[in-house]
Amino acid sequence: MLMTGEQYIESLRKLKTRVYMFGEKVDNWIDHPIIRPSINSVAMTYDLAHDPQYADLMTAKSNLTGETVNRFNHLHQSTDDLRKKVKMQRLLGQKTASCFQRCVGMDAFNAEYSTTFEIDKKYGTNYYERFVKYMKFVQENDLIVDGAMTDPKGDRGKSPSQQSDPDMFVHVVEKRDDGITVRGAKAHQTGSINSHEHLVMPTISMTEADKAYAVSFAVPSDAEGLFMIYGRQSCDTRKLEPNADVDLGNAKYGGQEALVVFDNVFVPWDRVFMCEEWDFAGMLVERFAGYHRQSYGGCKVGVGDVVIGAAALMADYNGVNKASHVKDKLIEMTHLNETLYCCGIACSAEGYPTEAGNYQIDLLLANICKQNVTRFPYEIVRLAEDIAGGLMVTMPADSDFKSDLPVGRGGETLGEICHKYFAGSSVCTTEERQRVLRFLENACLGTAAVGYRTESLHGAGSPQAQRIMIARQGNIESKKQLVKDIVGIKS
Ligand code: SF4
Ligand code: FE
Repeated sequence: MLMTGEQYIESLRKLKTRVYMFGEKVDNWIDHPIIRPSINSVAMTYDLAHDPQYADLMTAKSNLTGETVNRFNHLHQSTDDLRKKVKMQRLLGQKTASCFQRCVGMDAFNAEYSTTFEIDKKYGTNYYERFVKYMKFVQENDLIVDGAMTDPKGDRGKSPSQQSDPDMFVHVVEKRDDGITVRGAKAHQTGSINSHEHLVMPTISMTEADKAYAVSFAVPSDAEGLFMIYGRQSCDTRKLEPNADVDLGNAKYGGQEALVVFDNVFVPWDRVFMCEEWDFAGMLVERFAGYHRQSYGGCKVGVGDVVIGAAALMADYNGVNKASHVKDKLIEMTHLNETLYCCGIACSAEGYPTEAGNYQIDLLLANICKQNVTRFPYEIVRLAEDIAGGLMVTMPADSDFKSDLPVGRGGETLGEICHKYFAGSSVCTTEERQRVLRFLENACLGTAAVGYRTESLHGAGSPQAQRIMIARQGNIESKKQLVKDIVGIKS
């Protein structure tokens, strides 16, 4: 069954997810003006799956059931699937200009599928069978699942078991005949409130001393003992203003992050996919991170497309679209954005099958992809701000533009004065100019900047995490040998 966006939103109403924001419990979080745009972004992942022109990108045939599933719930069966994943993410970025949140689950599914297979091979456990059963449940119900990896981590110089507070990493507090009880939290959880389920993974490689922390499991988002604290975003309270529209920049769509707390949550055994196999924590982390670093070569490129479009429109609206330096800046933005896309496509094209049969991306190229994402959107934003002009941060409120308060000597209203002095080229109305400027403000500095800027830096691992992988995968020794062979050094 493929849900529509509307059916997805209605399905959230059946959950009793516990959400806190601004010091209070939010009962109707689905219709809350601060949260709703992020739900609309996820709804787009459901709606586009029903659009025949996107069927090839948005849907796939499940290798588990043979049924058509949303690609966000698909286990990649080929390099073609990996490429389509990136294209789908670019499309969604273009349609929402924000984070659409469903990728973390997709990336977790694929990492879990191959890792559980390999744990079972070594230990004779039955995690793979459990995970396949869980995956069928997710596919059949077209769920969105939050792939939850990042622990709060406390003192970064200490391992999980060395922390003064044992809850700095999610861990098993009790093993029972019927399941386990877990405790801890996951931070920066993208789309957590909007997800039906949470699929939890460890966040770092572990040693035997950390084995209580080597745990992976799935729980419903409204499981007893589970609650979430919403992460606020720059300019978020604008969404609470009456008739909020123009000043929001992107009134309909947004992203979402939250702290997810597991306050002694019980997990039955059939939903546990790793329990104390500490030597596989690193594999799960590396595979999930690899997929998610590939993802950024799609989603951020899609958002970049909209930012570039907004900069080009501003050039038209300001009457500077013929200036050669403006044209060149747009070329530079395109060059940077398409370079990110090249990386996303390249690490997909160089993918390979895992022992379980689903496809993994090329790890080195995926890390190069994400490393570029930590830089290029910043430069794209700098150029967009350059072209847009300072008005994107100095413009009066839309309520001033709409005000009929008489302020001029000739009886001109506040609104008339604003429209007179903030008019641009004749190709646009003042309101159109306002809208695009506010869009850029939102994308570069406001609520959407969470997704386009800081998430580009820290999401899927901060820059140093990629550099560690690049060091591991870069194979400098073989490069030394190349030069030795050419210049005739034998030692
Ligand atoms: Fe998907 Fe990108 Fe958001 Fe990650 S940051 S969930 S890849 S849209
Ligand atoms: Fe992310």
